[in-house]
Amino acid sequence: MVADGVPDEILRLAHTPEHLARLEMPRDFDPDTPYFPDIARHARRSVSAALAAASHAHASREPAFALMRPPGHHATAGSAMGFCYLNQVAIAALAARRDLGARRVAVWDFDAHHCNGTEAILKGREGLLVCSAHQSPGYPGTGLRDSGNSRNWPIPPNTPRGLHMDALRASLDAVVSFRPDLVLVSAGFDAYARDPITEMTLETEDFATLGRWLRESNLTAAAVLEGGYSTDLPTLVEAFLASWAG
Ligand SMILES: [Zn+2]
Repeated sequence: MVADGVPDEILRLAHTPEHLARLEMPRDFDPDTPYFPDIARHARRSVSAALAAASHAHASREPAFALMRPPGHHATAGSAMGFCYLNQVAIAALAARRDLGARRVAVWDFDAHHCNGTEAILKGREGLLVCSAHQSPGYPGTGLRDSGNSRNWPIPPNTPRGLHMDALRASLDAVVSFRPDLVLVSAGFDAYARDPITEMTLETEDFATLGRWLRESNLTAAAVLEGGYSTDLPTLVEAFLASWAG
């Protein structure tokens, strides 16, 4: 697969033609989300990696991880926002239903921020479920309650990590109950206690626990890097992956 060779018709599963054109225009999208030269190509490479991870996981039933930036879960059908330009998890979920033969696809988002874009894009679509546990109040201010095919676990700032993990366990249990053919994990590591942009309390071993839960669930799953802004990010990702792989 050519790294940034995702055809527009795949991107249009989740995004409007106007949004794809806007990504090429050299103007900032919002104060968090600047224009950079070639940002559309970088975002397309993130999508390409997510599609490859989903395809690999679905075919092999082995863990697959897309270690790419920019992240995607805040991007809506028509807008870049919150460091996100294209919503690779939403695109991969819709492509899995259309192209991989996956009938039921669930998104499990453990990033500290609500996946407003993923939720909005997949809202009301058949065979799809979105589960998110996230800081609230917090950016982007959505995800306060369940709606249609989205389930949300808002968690107050500075919640003790045991309670945060209880919410994450409940969100994964909802994914398991859906009996998905494929799970796409929006793996954000910004609920870490020393992340500079959130007020959450998870420690390295908690991310290892999330990986262990995935392994023990026997879910067919592919994960995509979302947020995570601490200099400890590599350690957090490694803890998650090592535990998931067993
Ligand atoms: Zn985040």
